[in-house]
Amino acid sequence: MEIRTRFAPSPTGYMHIGNLRTALYEYLIAKSQKGKFILRIEDTDQERFVEGAIDIIYNTLKLTGLYYDEGPDIGGEYGPYIQSQRMGIYMDYAKELVEKGQAYYCFCTKERLEALKTSNKEGEAFSKYDRHCLHLSSEQVQKNLDAGMPFVIRQKMPTEGTTTFHDVVYGDITVENAELDDQILMKADGFPTYNFANVVDDHLMKITHVVRGSEYLSSTPKYSLLYEAFGWEAPVYVHLPAVMRDAHNKLSKRHGDKSFEDLLKEGFLVEAIVNYIALLGWSPSDNKEIFTLKELEKAFDINGLSKSPSIFDIKKLTWMNGEYIKAMDADTFYSTIESRLKDAVKNTALDLKKIAALLQKRLETLNDIAPLVDFFDTLPEYSTELYIHKKMKTTEEIALSSLKASLPVLEQLSDWNETTIHDTLMSLVQELGIKNGQLLWPIRTALSGEPTSPGGAMELADILGKEESLSRIKIGIEKLEKRLSSI
Ligand code: GLU
Repeated sequence: MEIRTRFAPSPTGYMHIGNLRTALYEYLIAKSQKGKFILRIEDTDQERFVEGAIDIIYNTLKLTGLYYDEGPDIGGEYGPYIQSQRMGIYMDYAKELVEKGQAYYCFCTKERLEALKTSNKEGEAFSKYDRHCLHLSSEQVQKNLDAGMPFVIRQKMPTEGTTTFHDVVYGDITVENAELDDQILMKADGFPTYNFANVVDDHLMKITHVVRGSEYLSSTPKYSLLYEAFGWEAPVYVHLPAVMRDAHNKLSKRHGDKSFEDLLKEGFLVEAIVNYIALLGWSPSDNKEIFTLKELEKAFDINGLSKSPSIFDIKKLTWMNGEYIKAMDADTFYSTIESRLKDAVKNTALDLKKIAALLQKRLETLNDIAPLVDFFDTLPEYSTELYIHKKMKTTEEIALSSLKASLPVLEQLSDWNETTIHDTLMSLVQELGIKNGQLLWPIRTALSGEPTSPGGAMELADILGKEESLSRIKIGIEKLEKRLSSI
């Protein structure tokens, strides 16, 4: 049998980390078994409609490489793939259940349902509909319908016995039927509830595996009973434990946790995010950590899913992101950061490729770029204390004499490139009989005005060019002279 999975997001306007993980696992279950991955948009809750939200879903799946085989924008045999376009379908199925005695019309008004809540015995939370309309005669139902009375259709739950279903992650789960509410299948506005539409659609779209958050576990017995009532085969259920912010709290956009879009804005790479998310609840048998999507397609195995909630650890993601950046070839790295680099360094005379080469080993996220390269455009205000470095064995006095000594030799250098600068400075070190750092640290500091910089003295001098380098060294000399004369 062909494996068919579906990602069924509601268009909320952003992509939760948990949702993306669901999509990824659905994709991987399908692809690891040469099956089909389907996108279905669940927009029956029209009150929650958010403009542009569907595009965010398309874009996220494209960006992450989770290509679907069927979906609203590409079609497929079982469309339409947007629930609001399938409205004609659900009522007939609901009526089929009514005919089978598995569902019934309910004409209870909002007021009655409200009153039911308040008249409920003290201390006993209102959790179940009292089945007021279950016993209406078919004549009465027809009369109400003919009179145009608003109605919903409810699922008729068994009152005795138990319902058991199997979940890949949580095992067998059994509930007492008496606890189940006669849930609404069709709403008064003629729309199906999510609880009904997902069952009908999963059946019609021949879905074999349903992956979703564990918050749906408590509804699943009702879905099982619906499959049974129709005489349909239920899919394999894969419920995933929540992604947590810490040991006690779920990750939540409302409480400021980041969505996929937020992470992109903060300079995380799509590939690193996908890799990291894959490990939030799944681990390979060999504990490997770095995976491309293609590798995940091969390695993913449903048995590696874990029941214990995983904590979204931004530090771990940041580390992983840095690993992805380091592993890029120079051209890919450059094209990845080019626009950010151009925003951060406005001086078009500077060779951005050389700057990029200095950055690659130092970045954890792409947002680290701007603060690291600011000084190329403008030398910042800095304190001469930066010239003092224990390990380099420099003091402000040594820095001053080193800068002074470097100025004339660098001025004489006509062919200005990293090699010639290197050779010149190294022979100066020899001549002065000092340590490398005693010359190079002061020059690096004068060129950057920063306590640390990507690249050392020769690399910075090469990129900044002769004129700018000499001007910055002169500024350093002036600063140091001023400082030392004031002591
Ligand atoms: N539309 C539901 C959601 O976004 C999907 C749940 C499911 O996968 O069945 O949470």
